Amino acid sequence: MDSRMGRCTMTAGWSAVAAVLVAVAGWMPAAIAQQQLRGQQGAGDGLAVVELRPNFFVIGGAGANILAQIGPVGVIVVDSGTTEAADRVVAAIRRLSPLPIRYVINTGMDADHVGGNQTLARSGLSILAGALAAGAGLGDTLLTNAGGASVLAHENVLTRMSAPTGQEAPFPTALWPTKTFAYRLYSMYLNGEGIQVIHMPKAHTDGDTVVFFRRGDVIATGDLIDTTRFPVIDVARGGTVQGEIDALNRLMDMSIHNLPLQWTEDRTLLVPGHGHVYDKLDLLEYRDAVTVVRDRVQQLIDQGRTLDQVKAANPTLGYRSQYGAESGPWTTDMFVDVVYRELSAKKSGARP
Ligand SMILES: [Zn+2]
Repeated sequence: MDSRMGRCTMTAGWSAVAAVLVAVAGWMPAAIAQQQLRGQQGAGDGLAVVELRPNFFVIGGAGANILAQIGPVGVIVVDSGTTEAADRVVAAIRRLSPLPIRYVINTGMDADHVGGNQTLARSGLSILAGALAAGAGLGDTLLTNAGGASVLAHENVLTRMSAPTGQEAPFPTALWPTKTFAYRLYSMYLNGEGIQVIHMPKAHTDGDTVVFFRRGDVIATGDLIDTTRFPVIDVARGGTVQGEIDALNRLMDMSIHNLPLQWTEDRTLLVPGHGHVYDKLDLLEYRDAVTVVRDRVQQLIDQGRTLDQVKAANPTLGYRSQYGAESGPWTTDMFVDVVYRELSAKKSGARP
């Protein structure tokens, strides 16, 4: 945690704008960390709302981080938190803008990212609802969701949430995305922003997208980044370590640091699925940690080590204190396990 404190001072200048709705005591990246939110009761709703940039807010404490972009057309929301917190999230967004939610974009398919889909969408308004009311005769998918805000995600999110193979759907219909895309990229222009929803194949799951606000220079990364631990690789739902590393490298390409004018605060901001906001330097460390662990495990496999021997060799050395988790649903041990199994499978697959 010590190395994080240096980053805190660097971003301390934001404190003036950070305390918009909740009295966050000075801007600290860690203010958004889930474990620190319980004590923050600024609006009495258990949520922490932090202004990143004019018109960009992160709402923490409702499951996954929620990003809200505010503009003349309304509110664009990335991820919707848990079902349980959804009413409080809607109320928090209403305090940011009187205009309706126009889009809910899901970065993935986890319950704490999609749980508020129905509540947020119903509180919102489809972008062309006026045209529908006027009898414009539009049959476009823009008019989906019965006039509520559209819920946009990659097609694989809908596939996984709806389980079309005949099993019982793991999520109720009301939470499913109403608008999906199957290609590499979905682009739109709203609120004066070019917005790109970019699919990152087979990383945390097979339905991950990042949402890139080009003018604001803010990227919502979903669970490709989880600053509280090593990235969760959900193998059962199509996640792979290689895809995760590819995604982190792609985010590196998309991010810009404050060079050459290092005294400015200009930089790309990355809002992770969980934990505090990153910039490119933070991302660099995270990408390196995942890559180094992968390379160490590969080296040990090349030496013929078993999984137990690999774990005993402690391939996360040097990163454990920062990203390691010894308990909870995703431990360092489980991460090493997935890395080992993926690399071993690759090796044996390559044999004649
Ligand atoms: Zn998550």
